[in-house]
Amino acid sequence: MGVAQVTGGALWWGPAAWDIARPYNRRMRILLSNDDGYQAPGLVALARALAEFAEVDVVAPEHNNSAKSNALTLNAPLYVHRAAPGVRYVNGTPADCVHIALTGLLDYRPDLVVSGINNGANMGDDTIYSGTVGAAMEGYLFGIPGIAFSLAEKGWAHLDTAVALAAELVRTLQPAVEAHRRASAEASHDAAHPGPWLLNVNIPNLPREQVRGFKVARLGRRHAAEPVITQVNPRGETMYWIGAAGPAKDDAEGTDFHATRLGYASITPLQIDLTDHARLGYWAQTAAALSAALGATTHPGGVRVAATGEAPRPW
Ligand code: MN
Repeated sequence: MGVAQVTGGALWWGPAAWDIARPYNRRMRILLSNDDGYQAPGLVALARALAEFAEVDVVAPEHNNSAKSNALTLNAPLYVHRAAPGVRYVNGTPADCVHIALTGLLDYRPDLVVSGINNGANMGDDTIYSGTVGAAMEGYLFGIPGIAFSLAEKGWAHLDTAVALAAELVRTLQPAVEAHRRASAEASHDAAHPGPWLLNVNIPNLPREQVRGFKVARLGRRHAAEPVITQVNPRGETMYWIGAAGPAKDDAEGTDFHATRLGYASITPLQIDLTDHARLGYWAQTAAALSAALGATTHPGGVRVAATGEAPRPW
């Protein structure tokens, strides 16, 4: 990213310039990460399957980084080690891995960022905490399509099924990935190619013949997490363990919980605008009331909070 360049009379941005200059006679290039660590069976198996039809570079955390969401490490140096050709690991978070890969480690711009396959579900509220989703989302934030894959139950009982389905989905999406790459390189996003997309996919833990297919689903909701667990360490100090995620609260038809329970792999397109659009009007009224209250004491030097009387409380 960075410097605008003039190529053939058109204005391009950095990576796009050499991307579009290159004919698309190569295989799709995938950056693969996860949050369970670079040695996790879900990543290793998926890397092998994707490599059958794509160029795959793995940049993944050295250790388990589940529930790290989009965290970036800002207060410690990050080191990249090479485990095998095309496989690197980092002493950081999933988002660190993708961030580093896209901002200097890789000498090309991947066409797709894939994350997973995670050891366990990432449905409903899980997506807020999930490092698996965080890795894919980091690519999405950089304008690259992303897919986060999770096995709906822990353990790798039917990892082979999940890998086959995940690879098939990626293979099927190749035209969409290519369409995005071209629209991005030509700066020609339109209604048909509005920008990068981000998919959250949960695959049921079932033998292949019992999986009923893919189903698009919205996120469900979980109940509040289980209580924190306290223990006493050998020095008499109390330790706290974050409790398990709660069971499903909203698992109605149309949700990811519902689809996977019926034996479908759920596909949820995600976005990152957290704005509560439905309540913008309500809060606009509150903001107007607050402004009116402040108006009496506003002076040319700026806004000063009323010295007397209470400001309106929105709760
Ligand atoms: Mn994980």
